[in-house]
This record gives sequence, structure tokens and C-alpha cells, in this order.
Amino acid sequence: MIYLDNAATTAVSDAAKNAVNRGLEVFGNPSSLHGVGLEAEKLLRAAREKLAAALGVKDKEVFFTSCATESSNTVIFGAAQAHGRRRNRIITTTVEHPSVAEPVNELEKRGFDVVRVSPDDNGKITPEMIAQNVDANTLLVSCMHVNNETGYILPVERIFKAVKRKNPDTICHCDCVQSFMKLKFKAKDLGADCISVSGHKLHAPKGVGALYVKSGVRLLPLVYGGGQEGGFRSGTENIPYINAFAASTAELEPTIMKRYETVSMLKERLVNNLSGKEEISINSGDDCSPYVISVSVGRIKSETMLHYLESRGIYVSSGSACSKGKKSGVLSQFRIPDKYLDSTVRVSLCADNTAEDIDAFCQALLDGQKTLAKIR
Ligand code: PLP
Repeated sequence: MIYLDNAATTAVSDAAKNAVNRGLEVFGNPSSLHGVGLEAEKLLRAAREKLAAALGVKDKEVFFTSCATESSNTVIFGAAQAHGRRRNRIITTTVEHPSVAEPVNELEKRGFDVVRVSPDDNGKITPEMIAQNVDANTLLVSCMHVNNETGYILPVERIFKAVKRKNPDTICHCDCVQSFMKLKFKAKDLGADCISVSGHKLHAPKGVGALYVKSGVRLLPLVYGGGQEGGFRSGTENIPYINAFAASTAELEPTIMKRYETVSMLKERLVNNLSGKEEISINSGDDCSPYVISVSVGRIKSETMLHYLESRGIYVSSGSACSKGKKSGVLSQFRIPDKYLDSTVRVSLCADNTAEDIDAFCQALLDGQKTLAKIR
């Protein structure tokens, strides 16, 4: 099997599996006052310290959640609940993942004033394009770091700086799901007040995420109950998966740059293999994270190509995994020509992929182009 769908999810690493097992052995409730609970509390505290250090923030600014979708919903609805009576403008982009786009759509239905900024004719979003919409009424700007369909890196550092210059009270939220532990950054570098991250994109299991909320930023919780996570996210913490998330982060953090180089070389190889081939377009340029590569093959439907590749043991996705069955609106926002919109597959890498994987993918794609064109 050649797995090239790492933006959808990743294989669980040995370090994460061992950490899950340790978290299962330490079965106490971290809120219990006795020694068994204390053991679990120790794991939880160490995991929070690990995530906080990786983001360059204080421990008390990190909250564990079930996934990045929950993290982003918490910011968007939490900001609306806390401040919505006084300020009700929300600014976002048209290329966000549904975990941001959908809660914003919902708030629009409830009367919030939503501004969605589309990329320009070159497929780029500049700080000015966002900041020009910021006014005294602006509550929240939610802007992703790396787009999950093309890998485009949004200039969030400059975007948030420009936003704060116009209205320092605006809450700046960044979905860092496709950048955390792939690009080297700290929360301070981005200038974000809130950051969403997810475990299963970095070799931890599905079902664990985290949210950074800068001290002083007031959000109301989504979930009320026993007051866990500083009262911000009630419910007994998922210690095994939280422990795995921390173990994955600890394993990946020292190799961010090395893995970036490896993956960049793989992307370069893919681009070289396919460049100049008829009816093939690489939609992810130099301003993109090397981890995500969008490739269009003219006139062959994405799903048809995906299944052809699968028959050769190669796993990719058509657009993003979350848009299963639905036509992706995001690709057209990036000015990908109409003729390619239904003909795009997403290759997403991890550092375990090899040059042989890339060569096999490129050969299968070219073979697929020939074979499928005949039976079209
Ligand atoms: N944001 C981005 C950019 C993503 O790619 C994804 C998952 O594909 C998510 C958010 C959702 O993450 P989770 O599955 O942890 O809810």
C-alpha cells in the first residue's frame, strides 16, 4: 500500500500507541483526589505542558478537546456568546475548512454580519484584503494557516498584525490543523489569540484535539458540566488519547525542519515527474506547504482516477476528505480552471513516504490518464 492521504489522517505511530496503552493502564479519573486519580492527573499535566511548549504558550492556555472541529466551534460560538451583543462582525475566508465555515454560516443565520474574503485572481489572500473589512464592530477574524486542499500558506502573521492595527479587540483565530508540527512556528509568531490543532493529522489517534486561548481572551464554553479543563470544557478528559497527542508532538517537534526538507524533495520529484505532461496541472505552487499537492488530470473525473489509483494500491483523496461526495467549492476559489475542478486529486505526504512512492504514483497517474481516456 502507498498511502498518500496524510492530510485526511495519518497512521498511528508506535510512540502514540505506547502512550495510549500507558493512558489505559493509568485508569484513574484525573479529577479524583486520591492517588489513582493523581497518576492520571500527572499524565494530563505533562501532556498539557508538552502541547503548551510546542505552541510556545502557557500551560493554562491549552485546553484539550475531541478534535479540531470542536476547537474551532468553541472559538466561534464562544466568542459570539461572550461578545455578540456588542460586536457582531465576523471576517473569514472562502477557503476555510467546513469546521470553521459551517459555524460561521450558522452565526450568519442567527444575525451576525459575516464577511468572507476570496483569494484574488492569483489565488492569494493579502493582509489588506482582510484588514480593510475590520471595523469597530469586528468581533472575530478566523483565518486558516495552511489550506487542506491545495497546501496554500496564508500569510496569517501579516494578516493578524494588520487586523490588530485596525482593531486590537478583534479575536484572531487560526486553524493550524495542516501546519502544526509541519511548519515551524509558535503562537506568538502568528499573532493568533486562538489556535485549533488536531491529533490525528500527526500520527496520534482520531478523537483528540487541542485549543489554545490566549490569557485575557474571553470566550464562553460550549460544554458545561463538571468544570474540567479550567471550567472551559467540561467532561472527563480522554487521558489515553491526550497522552498519545503529547507523545506524537514530542516525537515530531525535533524533526520539523528535517521532515520539511524530506517532504519538499518528494514534492519536487512529483512536480518534475509530471511537469510538461499533457493535460496535467499541478495546482500547488511555491507558496504552498510541500505536504499537500493538488494535481489535476484533464477530463478524468477525480473519483474515477482515485479508484484507478486505488486499484494500483495507491491511496489519495479527491479534494478534501471532509467534502466526500460533494463538489469542492474551495478549488474554484483558488482560481483553478473550471475544466479541472472535477478532475483533481489531492496527494498529501508525510516524511515516511519515499521517492519510490512518488514515482509509483506518477506512473500510475499517467497510466490512468491513458487507460481512462479510452473508456470515457
Ligand atoms: N481544519 C483543517 C484544515 C482540516 O484539514 C481538518 C481535517 O481534515 C480539520 C480542520 C478538522 O479536524 P478534526 O478532524 O480534528 O476535526
